[in-house]
This record gives sequence, C-alpha cells and structure tokens, in this order.
Amino acid sequence: MKSLEKLIRTIPDYPKPGILFRDITTLLADAKGLKKAIKTLAKRYDDDDVDAVAGIEARGFILGGAIADRLECGFIPIRKKGKLPGKTIGQEYTLEYGVDVIEIHEDAIAEGSRILIVDDLIATGGTAEAAAKLIQRSGGIVVGAAFVIDLPDLGGMKRLEAMGIDGRALVSFEGH
Ligand code: AMP
Repeated sequence: MKSLEKLIRTIPDYPKPGILFRDITTLLADAKGLKKAIKTLAKRYDDDDVDAVAGIEARGFILGGAIADRLECGFIPIRKKGKLPGKTIGQEYTLEYGVDVIEIHEDAIAEGSRILIVDDLIATGGTAEAAAKLIQRSGGIVVGAAFVIDLPDLGGMKRLEAMGIDGRALVSFEGH
C-alpha cells in the first residue's frame, strides 16, 4: 500500500493564498490507508483506560468516531459555536486574524473521566489547546492528543507539551 504521507493530498493556496492545505479526504477514501491510520493511532492508547474520545469538528469526528470504536469507549463532539443543541461551555482561541470559539456540552464529561483529543492536523495548536481547556474545565483528564498530521514548524505540539499534554501524530510535513 501507499504510505500514509503519499495518501494525503496537498492543495496549494486553499483556503487562501500561501496556505498548503493538507487534505485527508484522499486518505479517508483509501480502505487500507484509513484502516492503518485508525489502527496505528488507536493502538497507542490501548493501555490508557480512555473513557471517551473528544473529536474536534469536523474531520476530528470522522477519525475520532473510528478510534473510539476501536478503544471501545464513548465519543464526545467539540463543535464550532452555536452547533450543539444542549447547554454548552465555550472556549475562545486565537486565529491568524481574530478569534473563534469552540464548545462542548456542559454535561458531556463526567468528573475525573479520561479523555483523548482527536483531530486531523495540528498546526499552531490553538484549537487543540482550547479543546484541552474545555475538557479540563469540565472536570476531565486529558490523556493525550492524537493527530494524523503535525506541522512542527508551527509549534502546536510544543504548546500542548507546555500544558503537560502528550501529543502524537502519524506524519509530519515541514513548513506551513
Ligand atoms: P491550529 O489550531 O493552528 O493547530 O489548526 C488546526 C486546525 O485547523 C485543525 O482542525 C485543522 O484541520 C485545520 N488546519 C490548520 N492548518 C491546516 C492545513 N495546512 N491543512 C489542513 N487543515 C489545517
């Protein structure tokens, strides 16, 4: 089979000039590639007693749901502001221009439960950091953060490390 790296398509100048968009739809469409990615990511947490995966909208839902199934644990969605139907708590994070907010249901996490964060990619780490804060504010313990792709030049993993969170990714791409 093709390596995971080769199954990820790079689309230049999307969503704006200068950005190299790392598109995982080509990986998701490949049966063997998808299985390998999910299996490898999930395996690392086999012995961590994960109670639930918290997936970040939207690609984190696809990967996170499959990882939760493998770990035989629950799944909790972390969504953009205004998308969850119940009572929520929100966390602001900084984007290149301005701020955004992600939310979680206020009753989604039981006190002391062990949560694994999942998203497709970590860049600056702003989104994952906000997700970790939401989980911690809800009384959960972040056991780790799993991504398919790391962009190490943007420092996201270091930001998680500074919070005491172990972040892991399957592939990394240099640059932005
Ligand atoms: P950040 O908060 O900077 O770590 O950005 C991570 C979030 O933005 C993830 O949900 C990614 O899906 C998305 N993202 C950021 N940069 C890229 C990129 N170059 N290609 C694809 N998705 C990206």
